[in-house]
Amino acid sequence: MPPERDYYDVLGISRDASQDEIKKAYRKLAFKHHPDKNPGDDEAREKFKQVTKAFEVLSDEEKRKQYDQFGAAGPAAGGAYGFNQGGYDMNDAMQAFMRAFEGESIFESLFGMGGGMGGARAGRARGPQRGSDIRIRLKLTLPEIAEGVQKKIKVARLVPCSTCSGTGAKPGTSPRTCAECGGTGQVRTQQSMGPFGTFQSVSPCPRCGGSGEVIEERCGACAGRGVVKASEVVEVKVPPGVATGNYIPVRGAGNAGPRGGPAGDLIVVIDEVPHELFDRVDDDILVDVPVSVDVIALGGQVDVPTLDGRARLKVPPGTPSGKTFRMRGKGIPHVRGRGAGDELVRVVVWVPRKPGGEEKKLLKRLGELSKGRIPGPMKPDRKH
Ligand SMILES: [Zn+2]
Ligand SMILES: [Zn+2]
Repeated sequence: MPPERDYYDVLGISRDASQDEIKKAYRKLAFKHHPDKNPGDDEAREKFKQVTKAFEVLSDEEKRKQYDQFGAAGPAAGGAYGFNQGGYDMNDAMQAFMRAFEGESIFESLFGMGGGMGGARAGRARGPQRGSDIRIRLKLTLPEIAEGVQKKIKVARLVPCSTCSGTGAKPGTSPRTCAECGGTGQVRTQQSMGPFGTFQSVSPCPRCGGSGEVIEERCGACAGRGVVKASEVVEVKVPPGVATGNYIPVRGAGNAGPRGGPAGDLIVVIDEVPHELFDRVDDDILVDVPVSVDVIALGGQVDVPTLDGRARLKVPPGTPSGKTFRMRGKGIPHVRGRGAGDELVRVVVWVPRKPGGEEKKLLKRLGELSKGRIPGPMKPDRKH
């Protein structure tokens, strides 16, 4: 593995950057290189992982202190904190990314809807407010993930009140133009800055909350809010290959905005249920298959489970115990781009716990025949 770039360099910040500056720098880079924005771009993927890893360390004061002292490769770093372990994959990065921007409309931020990131909505002074996003976790099994799946999810959300058609006004009455702001939804205040002149600020009207309208008589069904709680079933289509922390935005399936405001999004966050046999690493799946000593020594066929059934694996004679065979394309489909990961089958010699008399005899005989042929201790070979 090439030495890692300095985390401060990666985020383009100085070593004494504040937590605010760190988050700001990360936000800019993470959204720029986000895989959803750069489909099929491996370089962007790599950059996204890099900046996320750097952010994870530097945003945690304790880890940052360790990093400043020892660097990514230092003993404490590699051991206790795991900065430099090779196992940092896209899943980890996605989860860290979701944690960093928890509670934000990531979809909006990513694709610039509403014209900006994060605080953009707060700055909007005029017009009905957009409803909030709803975040929901969706548990999926590995076979579901491998195939792709359509799921119906029950969601408790705010919907426009049918009694007042979402206006919040009692039926038969209608909202009136706000006298405070004249219907613009904004108020301007001027502040003297002494020798620097005057400073003008624009803020949402406190009377009408920025909507430009006030309600004289409230709708009884929604207490003037224009929205009511409802339980609805939303259908979500999950493409093959997703992983924990990936999310699928369903536009407009979040909470309806108060008094006619547009609805937020439903953000479905994927949660992978651990499989009883397979471990997943990126898009590869790993499984151990015990075989008897004659198969591994003399060669043979082994029955191997796959995600969609079973397969036959040919074990050549003289196979070392612990050898991993790669079954190409038998893993999880790549969620972006074509193709799929592999299934990695490790064959391990099965040893009888309580050998019977005949087994004992044969094993002893085998031991005698092996005498002098077993190599001495060797450097571990964990690459296969
Ligand atoms: Zn109502
Ligand atoms: Zn007003």
